[in-house]
Amino acid sequence: AACMIWFRFDLRIDDHDGVSAALVSGLPIIPVYIFDENSSTRPLGAASKWWLHHSLKALDKSLRKLGTRLIIRCGDSQSELRDLCIKYNVKTIIYSHTFDPKSEKLDAEIARDFHSAGISLKGFNTSFLCLPNQVRTKSGDPFRMFTPFYRAMVAEGFCDANIFDAPNFKWPVPKVWPQSQSIESLGLNNTVTVSGKNWAQGFHVWAPGELGARQRLDIYVENSLKLYADYRDRPDIEATSKLSPHLRFGEISPHRILHELDKALFHYPDLQGPVEKFRSELAWREFSYGLLAQQPRLNEENFKSGYDSIKWHNNSSDFKAWKAGLTGYTLVDAGMRELWQTGFMHNRVRMVAASFLIKHLLVDWRWGEAWFWDCLVDADPANNAASWQWVAGSGADASPYFRIFNPITQAEKFDPKGLYRNKYIQGFTTLSTKDNHIKSEADLFDNIGKYGNNSHYPQPIIDHSFARQRALTAFDDRDSEL
Ligand code: FAD
Repeated sequence: AACMIWFRFDLRIDDHDGVSAALVSGLPIIPVYIFDENSSTRPLGAASKWWLHHSLKALDKSLRKLGTRLIIRCGDSQSELRDLCIKYNVKTIIYSHTFDPKSEKLDAEIARDFHSAGISLKGFNTSFLCLPNQVRTKSGDPFRMFTPFYRAMVAEGFCDANIFDAPNFKWPVPKVWPQSQSIESLGLNNTVTVSGKNWAQGFHVWAPGELGARQRLDIYVENSLKLYADYRDRPDIEATSKLSPHLRFGEISPHRILHELDKALFHYPDLQGPVEKFRSELAWREFSYGLLAQQPRLNEENFKSGYDSIKWHNNSSDFKAWKAGLTGYTLVDAGMRELWQTGFMHNRVRMVAASFLIKHLLVDWRWGEAWFWDCLVDADPANNAASWQWVAGSGADASPYFRIFNPITQAEKFDPKGLYRNKYIQGFTTLSTKDNHIKSEADLFDNIGKYGNNSHYPQPIIDHSFARQRALTAFDDRDSEL
């Protein structure tokens, strides 16, 4: 008999309980990845597909160093698993929970179905510190407020770092290797943008895969962790870790991160403040997954139903200008261009850009959420939807609806010298013209360079004070009782 490791959002070997369990079994191990667009609540966005392509390549490379390889399949997960189990005498399937509501349901169905055929499915939590809503209030309810949730998490020991080091010996392999597709044949790397350009060109800043994740963590702890508590809101300073896509794809475990933070703290007690702050930010990810479990349609439905009555303007040219970074507000535009060029945006800028779309332009937060889903390399079903709802005010423990970020003062405060602005809006000067006429979506993105230079930078598409007042009225009119 053989044992299968069914990889999903756990694309690593280090600190992986499932990998350890498979090795302990002593059975030949078949590592498998199945690309199945229907098994999760939502198909991956284009940027995530690009990441996945490279992450699979990296995992296969690490496995080959251990004398084994990654088997790639494409299609319905259940049928592919069944085929592999029958042909290769697999009796145990080891997998990691994704906590995506649809895939959790399918996993339970597969487990029931396979049980009768004598095949056991063993699920592990390899990518989170706790299970969604495992930490509860004293009365047994799931938390809806972050701070008490985090306090309880710490008190119950969920922020302690317990790790398994990566096994560094040859894996037992099957006598006959199952058929495998090539990673290229999945077509993930051909992700094309709305404008028809291959936008992954600017993604060279990333190194997807376990090795890249570990290097990023080590360099971060060495150079920038000390800045975290004071400068994490500054997009012009490298103070955050950019580990989010690695965490999303399970290339590094949060326990490994905590372990390395503890080690750093042991040697440098001054790091107490930054380490504590970082730990609590990691817990936001856990909190978001709790919300997703409470509301599986988190990217579609307001957590607070009172927000259903908001009358969105949903003006499509406003939305286009926002997507292309042509709103005339430099912090918003630099952020949207960072997103377009690199698949990432700094957290503070995400908040300002999202707030601008929702409040200044009165565009439904779901439109923005979907754009982020497509463009972010860290697009995450819980974090993205929960954060958009947080900004909209419709989420649990959300920012109050009357908080309307002023994009100008935010830029002054968090990018005081305009370094972040200048990085993404090339040749920017304070000069601007009225040349913000947008013909088509393709035209918009093709001309991002042209519109982005100093002589073509657009005037603000909306006056801040006017927009603020309009948003307050629209949000005041919602059904505030619900
Ligand atoms: P660091 O500051 O170095 O934090 C370390 C890790 O903690 C992050 O990698 C992340 O896993 C977690 N974390 C930090 N802040 C948050 C937060 N506010 N919520 C949840 N987890 C957090 N994060 C995603 O991972 N995927 C998304 O799709 C996503 N969409 C967002 C959309 C909006 C509108 C907003 C306002 C925020 C969104 N975030 C999302 C949260 C946050 O912006 C990113 O996690 C963070 O910017 C990632 O950068 P970092 O790794 O340098 O973070």
